[in-house]
Amino acid sequence: MHGEGTGVTAIDWSAGPEAARAACEKRIYDLEQLLEISKSLNSTLEYPILIDSILFTIMGQLRVVKAGLFSKKGLESPTFSLYRNFKGFEIDQNIDYSFPEDHELVRFLAREAGVYRYGELISRVPEAAELPALRSLGPDLVVPLKAKGAVNGVILLGDRIDSESFSDYELSQLLAIADLAAGAVHNAFLFELTTTDMMTKLKLKHYFYTVLLERMEKAAERGKDLSVLMLDIDHFKQFNDTYGHSCGDAVLKQVARTLRESVRPSDLAARYGGEEFCVLLPDADDARALAVAERVRAAIESARTEYEGLSLQVTVSVGVARYLPGHDISGRNLIDRADKALYQSKQSGRNRVTVAGSP
Ligand code: GH3
Ligand code: MG
Ligand code: MG
Repeated sequence: MHGEGTGVTAIDWSAGPEAARAACEKRIYDLEQLLEISKSLNSTLEYPILIDSILFTIMGQLRVVKAGLFSKKGLESPTFSLYRNFKGFEIDQNIDYSFPEDHELVRFLAREAGVYRYGELISRVPEAAELPALRSLGPDLVVPLKAKGAVNGVILLGDRIDSESFSDYELSQLLAIADLAAGAVHNAFLFELTTTDMMTKLKLKHYFYTVLLERMEKAAERGKDLSVLMLDIDHFKQFNDTYGHSCGDAVLKQVARTLRESVRPSDLAARYGGEEFCVLLPDADDARALAVAERVRAAIESARTEYEGLSLQVTVSVGVARYLPGHDISGRNLIDRADKALYQSKQSGRNRVTVAGSP
């Protein structure tokens, strides 16, 4: 285990002025590196980008070719799972690459400070040797990420390029990087928390608008298409009146799930308000946006919510609008046009899609 102190070893002044000077220069270089790493890790709050950045940084610093991070999948997830952008590890489809947050390994890592060689870790926490997720990956090092006293990630590293063993100094550097990474993961987690609707797990309106503005700028710059969908559940007030508000909530969650599953990861689905949703479709012209809208509408119509022995269904009306750079001077403008198209869908019978015409 390596973990006492702050990750800084003392300069040996007795070795003579030249050696001490070289050691000081190395220390300055390493601190500069840490500063750069800190800046880079704090430059993003987006989870996948942040995790890539953490893994590549550590791989470069430690000269290893395998790296992966176990983190909580969702806000309320009780397990740590291997994040999909791991590097170099061979994955066996039959193995569950996760472990519960109350596993003895997590308790141990939360209690003790440090980074661990795998052999040393399993001698301290024999239960860790039983974990298929760890055993099958065969890491050399296990690095907990801890912020505010809690473990928010576990990094596994393996296969050093030059096969040399890790020095204590390198492990202390790794500990310092892990500290920075844990802080960045914590911030990304808080960001996720404040931009996500707890009930549907979709993004909130203000986040949607932030991304919409960024994407509008990009689309205008690059001459790319960009479309938005506005969706509203049909006769939902009546639904609540008939089945009750809790049942309505269950249906809202189902609609959100169906919506998320019917769009690409690069599209952004959000809860716009009560029973209204919106989707941002990068690179989508009218035809593609209409196809996505129709797919989403049909998927919601086909989905059923099982609730207290009932199998329930709702439909949505949808409005589609494509960003018109000369015309849509704000995100609000574009959303208003999608909203008007949605209103037309309502007027013409609901459970249908309308594409906004030329303004
Ligand atoms: P329309 O087809 O014209 O959209 O009819 P509607 O009844 O859906 O429209 P209206 O806007 O009158 O009603 C929206 C309803 O959505 C009213 C409100 O009770 C319900 N609603 C909004 N947010 C929630 C929520 O979080 N949970 C539940 N259960 N219902 C909600
Ligand atoms: Mg409504
Ligand atoms: Mg409605």
